[in-house]
Amino acid sequence: MESIDIKHTLSWVAWPFLLCLCVVITHFGFVAGHPIIGFNIAYLTLALSLFFLEKYMPHEKKWLENDHQTFANIAHTLTSKGVVQGLMIFGGVVGVSAIITSMTSDGFGLWPRDWPLIIQVIMGVTLAEFGLYWAHRLSHEYYPLWRFHAVHHSVTRLWIINTGRFHFIDSLFSIVLGVSILLILGAPMEVITWLSALTAFIGMLTHCNVTMRFGWISYVFNTPELHRWHHSRDLREGNKNYCENIMLWDHVFGTWFNEKRRPPVDIGIAESMPPTFIAQLAWPFKGLIRKRKKKAL
Ligand SMILES: [Zn+2]
Ligand SMILES: [Zn+2]
Repeated sequence: MESIDIKHTLSWVAWPFLLCLCVVITHFGFVAGHPIIGFNIAYLTLALSLFFLEKYMPHEKKWLENDHQTFANIAHTLTSKGVVQGLMIFGGVVGVSAIITSMTSDGFGLWPRDWPLIIQVIMGVTLAEFGLYWAHRLSHEYYPLWRFHAVHHSVTRLWIINTGRFHFIDSLFSIVLGVSILLILGAPMEVITWLSALTAFIGMLTHCNVTMRFGWISYVFNTPELHRWHHSRDLREGNKNYCENIMLWDHVFGTWFNEKRRPPVDIGIAESMPPTFIAQLAWPFKGLIRKRKKKAL
């Protein structure tokens, strides 16, 4: 009885408490002049907390079973993070921003840099979400992009280890669309760092296999309950809930979806995805070539 009560209370408080904890730890990292260290401590705390909660109060017991994708999940996480960060530092996004910022020192100088940071971060998350929404929606609706995004959707269980399972081209596409809006407007690096940190925290929370309850929170934020629908094989449920952090643009464009029944346990995609990491990296390209050959015939 007691453990049921603890689990019931935890199911309501876990999501808001863990997100707030991560924000507070990252904030102290900023104050101490070490935002990246603060972020990493927060991220590790979140991962460990969710890891234990997944064992203690799983949403789906079936998703605790090994799917033999742990290595591939971690390899995709590292390559997509590595490639995106490399390009952000050495060219790519920063290259674009350098061209823009050579015209003026603050992008087009439209960003209100003197406003309180919290307002700037809320603005940053809201505007970037517009790019993230359309990158994600196009990845579902435009077949060549779907081939890359399908790597993420090919998992048959949701848990924290597949949070970062993205083909690196898929990651790159969504980061460029999300962040370039802010760079063009001249948002400071601090806002972009906060956006990246919040996206990482909320992303891990959305994939966790923990029993959680949300109420109104799912109207505002992307939660596990919404994202479980997004991983459904049934496209009436799966082609919904595209936002990454806040659900604003799903409400605006009519793709917000939630119903008072359990989302499906049997998740995945119609296509068959090879089991190994290297084959998964190549898979989207093969599909495109095959499709082109078919067209040529
Ligand atoms: Zn998706
Ligand atoms: Zn997902």
